[in-house]
Amino acid sequence: QTVCVTGASGFIASWLVKLLLERDYTVRGTIRSPGTSQKSKHLLQLPGASDHLKLVSADLLEQGSFDQAVEGCDGVFHTASPAFEKNVTDPQAQLIDPAVKGTLNVLASCVKARTKKVVLTSSMAAVAYTPKRKSTSVVDESWWSDSDYCQEAKAWYYVSKTLAERAAWDFVKEKNLDMVVINPSMVLGPVLQGSKNTSSEIILDFLNGTMKVYPSIAFGIVGVKDVAMAHILAYESEHATGRYICSGPVHPFADVVSLLKKLYPMYDISAKVADETVPLIPSHNLSSQKLRDLGLHLLPTEDVIHETVTNFKEWGLLD
Ligand code: NDP
Repeated sequence: QTVCVTGASGFIASWLVKLLLERDYTVRGTIRSPGTSQKSKHLLQLPGASDHLKLVSADLLEQGSFDQAVEGCDGVFHTASPAFEKNVTDPQAQLIDPAVKGTLNVLASCVKARTKKVVLTSSMAAVAYTPKRKSTSVVDESWWSDSDYCQEAKAWYYVSKTLAERAAWDFVKEKNLDMVVINPSMVLGPVLQGSKNTSSEIILDFLNGTMKVYPSIAFGIVGVKDVAMAHILAYESEHATGRYICSGPVHPFADVVSLLKKLYPMYDISAKVADETVPLIPSHNLSSQKLRDLGLHLLPTEDVIHETVTNFKEWGLLD
């Protein structure tokens, strides 16, 4: 089988490409500038890459850009989207347009190429951020983030992921395209590409003392290899349908900090909880039962954090 992975050099996508090659898929990976990009070197070194991986240039904001990459593929994994950013000056241009227009662009190429199945990487950012959530809530796949609520809170990444997933569902229903969606929570774990990732960087910042305060929020944590495998199981299972929350249990930030202190007493973790609370993200529970029914057993949080930290050391990012 031939499949396309958009944004192939990203944190999650790199693992996805690796696992797909291990399962004997032929993979076409899109990146913004193949050939010149340092970001893609690690992909070309993966086992099986020389025979079964081809990198193709594509940009989310160029219409028709994905036509060539998707042509002749049985399936498409659309992971590319702008990453979570702290300093957003132009949310529409930086986050919302590439996420929404980019997703529609990729899906339009899939319609032209008669792609059999699409797996879209969405996020818990598109699921759980709504004023209806209480600390007693158990969030499942029927939940949707409220984009107006996220917009009021200037949570632009959340807006981008919610609007992109909604637009994708509207599009595939109209065009009769088969799509399943993976909604990961915060993804941690080893990077294949040797650079920091915005989500795993948070752990690094605690350990090296850069993070002085943290907000009083709670979030789920999931390992990157599990996220990649969730995409593959959702693709391969004939019965997979709809959305899949992909997350371990929700932890208050304070518990993650306590765990880091317990596991790594040799680092001076002095971060304190910030005074203000962020109303957007109270504690809650979530259900990943649907994903477990696909046969995925998630790595426990402690092991995910351990793999993340070990990997920082391997890349020389931490003593
Ligand atoms: P990365 O930033 O590592 O990967 C994102 C990829 O998207 C990169 O390859 C990037 O390419 C590509 N991209 C961004 N903008 C464009 C553009 N305009 N045109 C073409 N490609 C573009 O992030 P992750 O691996 O963490 O995220 C992958 C997906 O998973 C995203 O959809 C993200 O929203 C989602 N996700 C991530 C979570 C996390 O905690 N990391 C949690 C939940 C969901 P380039 O390298 O050229 O910038």
